[in-house]
Amino acid sequence: MSTYIGRFAPSPTGPLHIGSLIAALASYLDARAHGGLWKLRIDDIDTTRCKAIYANEIKTCLQNFGLHWDGEATSQQVRADTDGAYATALQTLADKKVVYACVCSRKEIADSILTMPTATLINNPEGALYSGVCRHKGFTLSHPNSAIRLNVSDSEISFHDRIQGSFSHQLSQTCGDFILKRKDNLFAYQLAVVVDDYLEGITHIVRGADLLDSTPRQIHLQQLLGYPTPIYAHVPLALTDKGEKLSKQTLAPALPLQPSAAQALNTLLSCLKFLGQPTDGLAQMHDAAALLEAAVKRWDVSAVGRLGLDRLGN
Ligand code: GLU
Repeated sequence: MSTYIGRFAPSPTGPLHIGSLIAALASYLDARAHGGLWKLRIDDIDTTRCKAIYANEIKTCLQNFGLHWDGEATSQQVRADTDGAYATALQTLADKKVVYACVCSRKEIADSILTMPTATLINNPEGALYSGVCRHKGFTLSHPNSAIRLNVSDSEISFHDRIQGSFSHQLSQTCGDFILKRKDNLFAYQLAVVVDDYLEGITHIVRGADLLDSTPRQIHLQQLLGYPTPIYAHVPLALTDKGEKLSKQTLAPALPLQPSAAQALNTLLSCLKFLGQPTDGLAQMHDAAALLEAAVKRWDVSAVGRLGLDRLGN
């Protein structure tokens, strides 16, 4: 049995672009180079932003670039609707008394941050560091119109990333009490991803460096829930000319759903160069499958740079 199970977990909020293909390719090559499995999970827990049409396009696109996953693709929405795993994990945390209901509005959160004497204004997906006003108010977890937050107290998380090196985070300083279940009743990404990775037996996570600051939160949740911590590698981000992450917001062009053989080869070659991999002789390959087979043999994670340098097109 393989001791390596990797995954690519795109959020279907738009079509695949080259930035996401780089992350997909890196996780695919690392899994295959280890003789491991490579799974696909559609991270569609946020039903307000995700669309089934994009999930289908992402699957088609990956396949047409030669990136074939093992087994059936999974979906967070399906998991949320069918097996109650996220709710069970949240209940485990509630039993440990490390979660609380928060009734603060966005405005109250913004105001409380301004009045904090030493507020560390670090961006996180919820907007900014939360002051913890509701921590000791004792609302029941089913309080109407409330979010559920994790009390991070003074937890310090250290981890080693195979590409980015070693990190140590004091969660109260870097992210504060973060949200596990939103006011609109959707489970938050941070909780869902930890439960998914555990249930899918993921041993290695290779993903974009934009998620590096989520990793300490996820490791903390894994520790609280008694799950093993996967081995992490965060690949640099492809940036626009203005130094922004390529994304739907920065109008990254969609990859073609049905690339010609030459388009697929050239795009994959650009991604390999971006990842610092040797590409000599690969341009002559006759299709994506042959190129990927050769790239797996040469894959060297230590050649992937740490920074978000834009090496695309070099
Ligand atoms: N779904 C996340 C995204 O598309 C990635 C999740 C992960 O790799 O942990 O940004």
